[in-house]
Amino acid sequence: MTKTAKKIQMVDLKSQYEKIKTEVDAAIQNVLDNTAFINGPEVKAFQAELEQYLGVKHVIPCANGTDALQIAMMALDLKPGDEVITADFTYVATAEVIALLGLKPVLVDVVPDTFEIDIQAIEKAITPKTKAIVPVHLFGQCADMDAIMALAKKHNLYVIEDTAQAIGANYKSADGSAKKAGTIGTVGCTSFFPSKNLGCYGDGGAMYTNDDQLAAKIRMIANHGQSVQYVHDSIGVNSRLDSIQAAILRIKLRDLDNYAVARNKAANYYDKAFANHPKLKTPARAKFSDHVFHQYTLQLVGVDRTAIREYLASKDIPAMIYYPIPLHLQKAYLDPRYKAGDFPVTEKLCACVMSLPMHTELDEETLNYITTNVLEFCK
Ligand SMILES: *Cc1c(COP(=O)(O)O)cnc(C)c1O
Repeated sequence: MTKTAKKIQMVDLKSQYEKIKTEVDAAIQNVLDNTAFINGPEVKAFQAELEQYLGVKHVIPCANGTDALQIAMMALDLKPGDEVITADFTYVATAEVIALLGLKPVLVDVVPDTFEIDIQAIEKAITPKTKAIVPVHLFGQCADMDAIMALAKKHNLYVIEDTAQAIGANYKSADGSAKKAGTIGTVGCTSFFPSKNLGCYGDGGAMYTNDDQLAAKIRMIANHGQSVQYVHDSIGVNSRLDSIQAAILRIKLRDLDNYAVARNKAANYYDKAFANHPKLKTPARAKFSDHVFHQYTLQLVGVDRTAIREYLASKDIPAMIYYPIPLHLQKAYLDPRYKAGDFPVTEKLCACVMSLPMHTELDEETLNYITTNVLEFCK
């Protein structure tokens, strides 16, 4: 197979930008002309448009997804020693802010087919000190929110949805209703990091909630704990989305659903190419969520992962490992409560997952080139 003309990337932001360049460049120029760099009209307009898109009462923009998680936890008045349950198989930011605030991260395993947090494991981990659950909608589909909300109700817990990888995904409740990821729990937290499904051209993030009081508190904490200028009611942080990023996000938000369609097309192509392959387990779709494919993640069965990545790299095909080390085995998060073997699903996944290029600009020629080479190595 011959190499394709264009360099294959995990995420191709340049080709995506080229399609919206005229609009984006004009929007940036407009911000420069108006010099309302912070809290300007673009930020307010983006906030309103995202509220409308998500069907949520309040969107509070902030500087990044990690801040969003931290501010949400601060606003819920979680106190040192409070236990917060989250998945062992996630990006570090989720557990990082829990630890940073002096809260106790309680890690639980995930389910092997969808990579989402294991509901039975959550239930087992609940103690009288548990205050919140942080489900991570990993790789672009929702955790089982009906079950999580039922547990939260039963035990009086907050639910902080980490929806950094699943913005735009619909969760379908058993009662037939559908809601956007991040709008079901107490508060949803997302990231606009460039490679995320709705990415800006720098850093950005947001929190969503339907609770008026909580929204006001989040807004206050994100702004140095002040509700009126120079009057500080609590210790806060400084976390803002800037106007240039908001202007870019307004343009990309209009395309977000189309981006999900493009990602699903690529995922379907991969699924078809690898269907029933004994060495390649394709990612399962949860019945209660649609998938926006932040990542397309295979589980390798009896394949040397280092060797296949080297082989693919020799064909100019990148492939990444999300994530190589479970949180409970990371040096920073070592804890006498946990040891190797405690989270067998996560440990197995960390050893066998491999994510293929996934973005909005993958054409059939490229997908054919990628799948042909993966299959060639796995024959
Ligand atoms: C990207 C990400 C974050 C953090 O977002 P930043 O904007 O990079 O701070 C948090 N959680 C998950 C699951 C993520 O993928």
